[in-house]
Amino acid sequence: MRRRLPFVLVLAAIAWAISAFVRPEKRAGVTLTFLANEGVMLSADGKKVLIDALFLKYERGYAVPADSTLAALRGARPPFDSVDVVLVTHRHGDHFHPAPVAAHLRANPRATVVTSQQVIDSLRGYTPARALPAGRLISRTMRPGTRRREVIAEITVELLGLPHGGHPHVQHVGYIVELGGRRVLHVGDADFSEEAFAPLRLDTARIDVALLPYWAVVNRKDRRVIERWIRPRQVVAFHVGERNPGRTEREVRAAMPGAVTFVRSLETLNR
Ligand SMILES: [Zn+2]
Repeated sequence: MRRRLPFVLVLAAIAWAISAFVRPEKRAGVTLTFLANEGVMLSADGKKVLIDALFLKYERGYAVPADSTLAALRGARPPFDSVDVVLVTHRHGDHFHPAPVAAHLRANPRATVVTSQQVIDSLRGYTPARALPAGRLISRTMRPGTRRREVIAEITVELLGLPHGGHPHVQHVGYIVELGGRRVLHVGDADFSEEAFAPLRLDTARIDVALLPYWAVVNRKDRRVIERWIRPRQVVAFHVGERNPGRTEREVRAAMPGAVTFVRSLETLNR
């Protein structure tokens, strides 16, 4: 009997390995699905959040998802169905357009938008969005340097007053979204100065994933702000232009070897 025990253990190990393979456990953490520019979908535990994901082709050089992806986003069709919260950092056309936002909201009655008053105004100025109930468009313009924690559709979202780099009159909101036990930071087109980030104390916010424009990751001065004032466990660089994305990816890898770069639309990352 004693001699057979190891064999039984080996059999048990094989059975466990097979069961793990044929019946994959629901993966812990959050899944990030990249769209283009700074557009992402976060999903976990049957909850979904879109950030800067509903826009159209903007100026030359800016990326845009494939037509089929844009159609699925507009129509709230899989994998973009049942989205709970839609977040928009600011009104620039590579992050937001009222047409796909209005279409998505009409196709999916459960989605709520939380963004700046400027983005809400732009939506309200777009005729097909006028009939949307006021409760589905939540205006949150954030004063620079301030944080505000809210629970929207059972998802904890922290809103961050972060100015836009070089555009002081554009209202700009950063977000920390808690999903799948992770804290994901999206900074939009933030100004990477010490003055913008220091008052937010994100270094004490236990950021698991920081979504950052690639130009901040490759810039030595901005990188010091990331390392000192954000201190994320994982950096994801995005907002890569259409021209030579391979070169940008190499620059990011050289500047920050542990960083991931989102380049291809619909690529995913689980953390
Ligand atoms: Zn912008």
